[in-house]
Amino acid sequence: MQYRETLPLKDHEVVLTFDDGPLPKYSNQVLKILDDECIKATFFIIGSQAKANPEGVRKLVAAGHTVGTHSMNHPLTFDRMPVEKFEPEINGGIEWTSAAMTDPSKLAPFFRIPGLMRAEGVENYLISRGIQVWSADFPADDWRHVSSDRVYQLAIQRLEAKGKGILLLHDIQARTVAALPKIIRDLKARGYRIVHVVPATAERPATPTTPVEWLLHPPTETVPIARWPAVPRFAFTQTTMLPAPSLADLNAETAHQSLLPRRTKGQMDIASTLPVPGRALFAIPEGSIEVLLSTTLSRRAATRLAMAAETAHAARGKVAKGKAARPQARHTAHAAPAAAKHAAQAKSGTPRPTRVASLKKRA
Ligand SMILES: [Zn+2]
Repeated sequence: MQYRETLPLKDHEVVLTFDDGPLPKYSNQVLKILDDECIKATFFIIGSQAKANPEGVRKLVAAGHTVGTHSMNHPLTFDRMPVEKFEPEINGGIEWTSAAMTDPSKLAPFFRIPGLMRAEGVENYLISRGIQVWSADFPADDWRHVSSDRVYQLAIQRLEAKGKGILLLHDIQARTVAALPKIIRDLKARGYRIVHVVPATAERPATPTTPVEWLLHPPTETVPIARWPAVPRFAFTQTTMLPAPSLADLNAETAHQSLLPRRTKGQMDIASTLPVPGRALFAIPEGSIEVLLSTTLSRRAATRLAMAAETAHAARGKVAKGKAARPQARHTAHAAPAAAKHAAQAKSGTPRPTRVASLKKRA
């Protein structure tokens, strides 16, 4: 719930944890329910409870459960306590819990901060003592004034949402005792495996894992988009322009001031001596204009216009006594297709810009 790392559980694996005991009235019932289902859990003991009910601690150990600690008096101020305050709280819990045990070596070096009120100083202190800091992956709100049905629903809903994890419960609540059998039956029906976490020993070394398995959200190849880092929301309070970077900022050597790829002397000579393309390169062969007049309709229109123009020129030629009749006629023959093109465009209503046509027209 607070850290980027959690237990390296596999999918459909769940760890049951119980805090704040032992309190015989309810802790004994929890013990019975777990024994009936052959389930091992982890208990985080409060020192003052162990002091008052040492027999309760011994029962947990005798039943094979893992026993860690949860401070001496359960203050909800670990996030703001100085070391001289939290140190005796941590150590008092450890001392009274281990004192209740027949074999103090049975105490697991696991600690859960009361109320999960984490603080870096507390965590560093625990780590320096070789104690593993525990949080949880989801609670079931069993310390709140809710029904046992609600506790059961929350436990299952939150587990199903994550598919695995550490469930936080309290063995000092009647609603927890009432909800527990239903929770366990449902976990088994849904195919969950209840995992018992124990401290590593020389005889039983730690389960081999990779660091990535401890991550709450390990990077996956199948859903890369979900792992993109969030884009920070910048507040542009100052909108003055930044100075342009200098070459020195880019570690550029002054000898090669151009940031573009350097060209050899030969390449530069080629570039400077390439001839300007001649106008003839863009000349269009006479027949190419046909492309523009590819439809029967426009071809017919072109023929009609050409014939009309021919007639008009012939008539004008007669008036001019045939002086320049021949050159004019030839000019008409060339101009006619262009005129036809305009006619075709006007008819279709959608002018089609064509590079060939404009070149031809200018030529
Ligand atoms: Zn607690």
